[in-house]
Amino acid sequence: MIAKVGEIGFPLSANGLYASSIGCIGDPHCNYAVTPTKTKLATIIERLVNQFGEQVGGLKVNLDGCPHACAQHWTGDIGLQGTTGRGPNGEPLEAFDIILRGGLGKDAAIGKPILRRVPSAMVEDYVSRLFGSYLERREAGETFAHFCVRSSDNDLISIASGNVSTGADAAA
Ligand code: SF4
Repeated sequence: MIAKVGEIGFPLSANGLYASSIGCIGDPHCNYAVTPTKTKLATIIERLVNQFGEQVGGLKVNLDGCPHACAQHWTGDIGLQGTTGRGPNGEPLEAFDIILRGGLGKDAAIGKPILRRVPSAMVEDYVSRLFGSYLERREAGETFAHFCVRSSDNDLISIASGNVSTGADAAA
């Protein structure tokens, strides 16, 4: 039976990140969405799995297409909320706010928007740098959420952006 399910495109041997992450219905099925959601989450997951393999299993990436938060981006390890940024000439640009320090259960917390209006094309790089830095700097047994809690806003912004100016805004 498990093999049959895999044959139709739902392999149960998939990385745990596929189970721990969630994207809202969003674009194209919700009128409130200002960004793609499930397709965007799929590209983020693919990037993280390809780069980090089993190490990223269990990370909670919660992605919403608007502030209504149907996928609860405030409580993810990495929360993403679709928004609209501005391009070089002031044109509207698909973008995401990045929310960190959220959690559920014994570590329940409302996350904080650390970066705002990150251009969508750069989001995979931002998320990758954050998780990669966590792997390099974590203390024994430390969770990603705790790493974000003990890191300053400026450090997280610097890590995520790769210390380069991208046009994304740091949250106030
Ligand atoms: S979070 Fe916003 S875009 Fe996503 S399903 Fe809910 S209302 Fe729609």
